[in-house]
Amino acid sequence: MANFNIDAKKDMTYDAIVIGSGISGGWAAKELCESGLKTLVLERGRLVEHVIDYPTMNNDPWDTELRGAAAAEELKERQINARTGFVGENNIHFFAKDDENPYKEVKPFMWVRANQMGGRSLLWGKQCYRWSDLDFEANAKDGHGVDWPIRYNDIKDWYTYVEKFAGISGEAIGLPQLPDSHFLPPMELNCVEKDVKKRIEKEFPGRNMIIGRVAHLTEPLNGRGQCQSRNRCDRGCPYGAYFSSNAVTLPAANATGNLTIRPFSLADSIIYDEEKGKAVGVRVIDSETKEVLEYYAKIVFCNASTIGTTQLLLNSTSNRFENGLGNDSGELGHNLMDHTYRVGAMGKFEGHEDGYYKGRRPNGIYIPRYRNIDEKSTTDKFLRGYGYQGGAGRANWGAGANQEAFGGEFKDALMKPGDWEFFITGFAECLPYHENQVSLDKDKLDKWGRPTLVIDAEFKENELAINKQIQIDAVEMLEKAGLKDIVGFDNEHGMGYGIHEMGTARMGKDPKTSVLNATNQVHAVKNVFVTDGACMTSSSCVNPSLTYMALTARAANHAVSELKKKNL
Ligand SMILES: Cc1cc2nc3c(=O)[nH]c(=O)nc-3n(C[C@H](O)[C@H](O)[C@H](O)COP(=O)(O)OP(=O)(O)OC[C@H]3O[C@@H](n4cnc5c(N)ncnc54)[C@H](O)[C@@H]3O)c2cc1C
Ligand code: SF4
Repeated sequence: MANFNIDAKKDMTYDAIVIGSGISGGWAAKELCESGLKTLVLERGRLVEHVIDYPTMNNDPWDTELRGAAAAEELKERQINARTGFVGENNIHFFAKDDENPYKEVKPFMWVRANQMGGRSLLWGKQCYRWSDLDFEANAKDGHGVDWPIRYNDIKDWYTYVEKFAGISGEAIGLPQLPDSHFLPPMELNCVEKDVKKRIEKEFPGRNMIIGRVAHLTEPLNGRGQCQSRNRCDRGCPYGAYFSSNAVTLPAANATGNLTIRPFSLADSIIYDEEKGKAVGVRVIDSETKEVLEYYAKIVFCNASTIGTTQLLLNSTSNRFENGLGNDSGELGHNLMDHTYRVGAMGKFEGHEDGYYKGRRPNGIYIPRYRNIDEKSTTDKFLRGYGYQGGAGRANWGAGANQEAFGGEFKDALMKPGDWEFFITGFAECLPYHENQVSLDKDKLDKWGRPTLVIDAEFKENELAINKQIQIDAVEMLEKAGLKDIVGFDNEHGMGYGIHEMGTARMGKDPKTSVLNATNQVHAVKNVFVTDGACMTSSSCVNPSLTYMALTARAANHAVSELKKKNL
């Protein structure tokens, strides 16, 4: 007679489990499946099939009831995500509802979430920059946080590896603080940006202005189409022209025949076997039926996004780990970081009145970090640095859209673009402060009975000092570039607006002060890997997701090689 228990357990057993299917989870799935491991991806949200589940991808303004604005009732369910200002009628279905993961903000913290297959890879801005040794050595040099256990050379080839598959467009300029990627042809600056670039680079030697480096295809790659400059990316791209898990990594994983995706599967905790001294699987709550299930595997990759992963680890308690899996150092949940954002300047450009641009380029300009990069550029006002994103465009193009007017004059006005405007916004590095943290509130449970989160984090003196300089420099650069009616701005904000939350399960050399080792393994539970933003030891000032991709591919290949050696 068959032993049903053994058979049932076999059905629930895989070689590897990946928790989360966003940017990092998609890469983990691809690498593990391509290495021949039967891999289960647990995704708390619904399935989103590439193209099939992009209902608004071709909508024009007249196709939507509210001309693109989100309905009030739907916004009410997404008050936190709505603070971004990015939520509209065409993309609202990709932003999570607040009650899916409620949390308490001790200080304002905007946690942007996208709980479905693909996660935030469907919504992201695609800006992709390599980190350099300026970033990996920063903690060691100024003594904040702990030293990274890796340097640029450890990850350099993995950047190239993921860039070749993801497709990153950009221009190589050979800056040591912003290493060049493996690039597809760059997008083009418009006529005003070209002029502003010339003037800034002439007036401020050592500063550069380049076209943004983005995960958009400027030529076809691996069956994916070239970007058509429609700037409707956050609805899903019919051509697969920008990098998302749905269009790129998950189809590659699926093609191996080794992938199983289980949607509506909320990973509740990692199952730790005291005798074996390792993780043996994941406890899952079916988010529709609330049924509790257990899945087993030799290795577990945590890719539930920075805070989601740490929530899961904190919730994975056992006799050995009373305060969360792998939390021997007490650092789990601490050192939460983000980038400051929303500080900069804008102005009007006179000239090029007869100039325009074709299409809606889904990209802008980038001014790489130029402060505190060498002795000459060092300031004693603050540590670390910042870069700017921005661009030039013509105003008022859509000014008539919401007006109740008619007649020839009105129609003529609709055909005329307004003044040229140019703006830049800084993104600044945030130091890793132990007291910026997330923790569990075991008395307040979510609708699945899981402890909710308390987020207690803020920018401090160093970040505020950087913000001041960001605005001063921005105004000065625009003045020297000849812009008029310049306005500096500092839209004060709490953390989370950068949507680059990092840290809370940092990598480090010493298990006494960090959670993960140099290959993203939990120090004390080597078959559990964390390769999303939770692993970050410092925050750099550049967008982080490309680094998550490279770290994930590197860790997945290490996991496979350790499995082969029977070390896990
Ligand atoms: C509007 C916007 C613009 C951005 N622009 C940029 C940019 O230009 N450049 C850049 O580098 N970054 C950008 N980001 C940030 C970028 O999207 C994130 O850094 C990136 O998506 C993080 O990848 P991830 O794999 O950690 O998490 P995510 O992509 O967020 O995916 C996490 C996945 O895990 C699932 N999940 C969570 N908890 C559980 C659980 N317990 N069980 C099972 N599944 C779970 C979620 O449903 C989700 O699918 C932007 C983000 C937004 C929203
Ligand atoms: S702008 Fe490019 S990547 Fe974005 S939706 Fe259009 S074609 Fe796709």
